[in-house]
Amino acid sequence: MPRDRDYILDIPGLPDPQARPAAGAYRAIGPAERGALNWLAVHWRCCHVYSRIYKTRDGTAYAGCCPKCGKPVRARIGPDGTTGRFFEAH
Ligand SMILES: [Zn+2]
Repeated sequence: MPRDRDYILDIPGLPDPQARPAAGAYRAIGPAERGALNWLAVHWRCCHVYSRIYKTRDGTAYAGCCPKCGKPVRARIGPDGTTGRFFEAH
């Protein structure tokens, strides 16, 4: 007398543990994204090097110096300023 099928339970609506996202997956982007806005990648054409310049304290520009020769640069933030995430210092 075959009774095997009695032991196969198919309950719809039960969440599959494998399908759930890992804990904290939804929050991974937040702080890193905000931090990325505080700097700008710069190509220093004077010395052919790359570095980052950081937002000034008042938040109106990015400012920094060439890591090799110390030449200062300032990139304004605003409608007529830089919009890209990459900046070239001439
Ligand atoms: Zn330089």
